[in-house]
Amino acid sequence: MTVETLRHCLSHKKAATASGLDGVSLTDLRAMPTAALSNFVDIFTHAEATGLWPAQIVSGRVACIAKIPEPQKALDFRPITVLGLLYRCWGTFNARHIIQQLDEHLPPGLFGSRPQRFAGQVWSQLLWSIEQAYEQEIHLSGIIADIQKAFNYLPRLVVFECCALVGIPFHVLRAWAGALTIMPRRFQINGALSPPAYSNCGLPEGCALSCVGMMVIDMVYHAWMSHFFPMCQPLSYVDDWQVLMTNPGFLQPALQCLERFTQAMDLLLDRRKTHTLSVSAYGRQILREQGLDLVASDRNLGAHVQFTRLHTNKTLVARIQGAHHLWHKLKISACNYAAKVRAVRVAAWPKFLHGVPATTLSLTLFKSLRSGAMRGLRAEAAGANPMVQLGLIENSATDPHNWAIQQTMRLTRDCGQRERVEQVLAEIVAGSEAFPGNSITHTLCTRLQFLGWHINDSGRLVDLFGSFSLFEVSMAELQYRLDLQWPKVVAASTAHRRCFEGLGTCDVADTRRWLLSLDVADQALFRKVLNGTHFTQDGKMFCQEAPTDECLYCACSDSRYHRFWECTRFESLRSGLTPDVRRCICDLPEALSCSGWSMQPTTLCEWNCYFAGLPHMPIPSAMFHGDIYIFTDGSCFNQQLVNQRFAGYAVVLASCTGVYDCRGSEVLDAGHLPGILQSAIRAEVFAVLRALQIAEGSAERLFL
Ligand SMILES: [Zn+2]
Repeated sequence: MTVETLRHCLSHKKAATASGLDGVSLTDLRAMPTAALSNFVDIFTHAEATGLWPAQIVSGRVACIAKIPEPQKALDFRPITVLGLLYRCWGTFNARHIIQQLDEHLPPGLFGSRPQRFAGQVWSQLLWSIEQAYEQEIHLSGIIADIQKAFNYLPRLVVFECCALVGIPFHVLRAWAGALTIMPRRFQINGALSPPAYSNCGLPEGCALSCVGMMVIDMVYHAWMSHFFPMCQPLSYVDDWQVLMTNPGFLQPALQCLERFTQAMDLLLDRRKTHTLSVSAYGRQILREQGLDLVASDRNLGAHVQFTRLHTNKTLVARIQGAHHLWHKLKISACNYAAKVRAVRVAAWPKFLHGVPATTLSLTLFKSLRSGAMRGLRAEAAGANPMVQLGLIENSATDPHNWAIQQTMRLTRDCGQRERVEQVLAEIVAGSEAFPGNSITHTLCTRLQFLGWHINDSGRLVDLFGSFSLFEVSMAELQYRLDLQWPKVVAASTAHRRCFEGLGTCDVADTRRWLLSLDVADQALFRKVLNGTHFTQDGKMFCQEAPTDECLYCACSDSRYHRFWECTRFESLRSGLTPDVRRCICDLPEALSCSGWSMQPTTLCEWNCYFAGLPHMPIPSAMFHGDIYIFTDGSCFNQQLVNQRFAGYAVVLASCTGVYDCRGSEVLDAGHLPGILQSAIRAEVFAVLRALQIAEGSAERLFL
């Protein structure tokens, strides 16, 4: 580690990162002159040569993070050690290098701590395997192991031997081992610190190198299982171990094999929490006969995974039922409305709907989440429609169902295999019985169809603007298509309210823009107009807040239409309207005339279909002699007006002979930008892509 790498490491730490017991803060370290940093680097070099560290750098404070809402036992806590910042920098730097170097040597089923790997991949792969097993009638069976406190029980000697075997440099191991040996850890309880505790086993959670240690143990686990049991497929995510096999008869010996491994490693396999599974009735019978603990569904890295055809979702339901605490907290919070909406979108839904692509939820549950969020936002009122408030007035992902649909599409794009998913989707809509109704692709299919999109016989999605592949379009385009579809979903479920008539063709973006131009108090009032809150006597009578539906200001019967366009009391406010406008108001949909939703242009669908249907022109061929100088450009007409913009691009072979004019230069390719998203940036990127495609196969150097 050098002064530069240390400085780089410090600049990438989060500003709010806690300092260790040595009291040296990030601000202190960032303010240090080069000479001081150089001294710190000398400490590292000394430690790597001798294994000796200054005690204050490696002493740690243990913060106990509760794993459950009401923790009672030691096992209910996760002990995170906060070590000195300098030691953490050294550890992070080395761990990152080691993990990068190891990456290509890791077995495919190892997911923990690897770059670009995340827990969703593990359970989604498992779910796709289960689906395939049903289709091909394979007796897929498996073990889900529970290792108690893996980090605390890892035998250090074994970890270091294994680390040396995989080639981790000896000086790093020496410094690491030295630090662990003298590391005093003090437990922090209610602000007080315990006397120091030392240990000769386990790795502290909170040190980056511990992840390396666990990763190496995972490598050994994979090697052990593959060696003694080549018929099984081990999967691991840090200390979460699973074994899959296609023959349920092998499960008992595989479990014994796994037990031998944990015993050899001095780890505790919790037999009560170690479950077995099988997707077929035959497999389950075999496992039951062997007296193994069999589960039909289980929580797997936070997601609810089902192993039988019976649809369950209790992991998610339990989490959602615990949501009312948060709504109450949100309600009494002093934050402004915008911050609360953000909290719902970025904190509440990720927490309660984690792993939602794994299983379906009932409309009632989504409804209960919506009304909870409305309470939290203090937006609940008679007549206020939660779907309109969360999904249309706010960014559509503020609606829990929309959020769930988006997550399901994202997970499929990130982790699914395109050919397989599209093929299964097509088979499901064709009526195939091979896939159970609770399989992962079925869940995706249900969510896509909820939007009103359908799936064609090649597994492509079809919306208002034509067909497209879930895997082909960019996330921005998918979002655009979804945002134009969502008002129709909301309109269908609010069709019983007259004031929302015509909501399906409202221009949500335009309405939001106008809403934002108001001051904060008017925004709050106008949201009530938009979301259907009852504020006229007819609505209040309906929910027994008023005795009659007579207008408060005249003797007519009251309604939104009456107040806005008829009541004589407010005539002066309509004086700016021309007779033409006055005449057409009664013909406008009530979503506009009574609830204030801006309407889409009637040509919007045709306009989008036109761009979606533009063909990709064939790549022009060109001959090049010598270095290729290409100038590309893209531009957009009316870039600010989303409903009116259109873009084009050009690729020019630039010539050095005509510097002041276009002599010798040649337009290689030019045209309109195909695709539904018309923007200058996309046109620019598309031009570069075309240039690369034109020059592909040419041996000359290309300058763009
Ligand atoms: Zn009136």
